[in-house]
Amino acid sequence: MLGKGYKAIIFDFDGTLYNRNGINKKMIMANLFYWRYLKGLKEVREEMAGKDYGSKEAFYSAFYAAVAKKTKKKIYNVKKWYTNTFYSKFVKVLADHFYSRPKVNKLLYNLQTRGYRLAVVSDYDKIAERMQALGIDQNPFRCLLSAEAVGALKPHPKSLLAAADVLGTKPAATLVIGDRSETDGQAARNAGMGYIEIIEQFLEKTDKYVWRDFYQKIIDHQ
Ligand SMILES: [Mg+2]
Repeated sequence: MLGKGYKAIIFDFDGTLYNRNGINKKMIMANLFYWRYLKGLKEVREEMAGKDYGSKEAFYSAFYAAVAKKTKKKIYNVKKWYTNTFYSKFVKVLADHFYSRPKVNKLLYNLQTRGYRLAVVSDYDKIAERMQALGIDQNPFRCLLSAEAVGALKPHPKSLLAAADVLGTKPAATLVIGDRSETDGQAARNAGMGYIEIIEQFLEKTDKYVWRDFYQKIIDHQ
């Protein structure tokens, strides 16, 4: 599986390092008072996907303005909700209701010991806090990077290329592990990186993996 001369592995976070099924419902329950913001956030992020806003600051100002327009709320209030409430609820929902993939820490240390440089690249921020909420060890990672922080959501390749830059590997020697073809897979292709997809249910005649099989292949060095 890792036989193509890869030196670095970049993991997506949501849906890759944990099963995200049911998270939308849990986030709505946690943001009942702010459901309009949450709906606006989802729609706006879909519209912003794949576009490069140039910087973190430019990304956030475009994001807050677009959510404010969609929800007919003030930009100030959208910003306040996103920075004070949204992420703390996100972390709490993960801590209360979700679990990392089985033996994920063992897999990460196995890869690190074998010399792979590891990173997490997520469209969403607060990666360290979210990892902690799920009990995922940060030590094996040399880089935790959000697409928000570079101003371009996937499938734009900017966040993946920035992470590879930190890891010091060329795109061709970098493998992306994700759960969504249209964002993670496309971003990896746009960056010239390899790609493996994690799915929840085994499908025949596919090159995608359920976590259990992915884990076993990595551990067995297949
Ligand atoms: Mg994902």
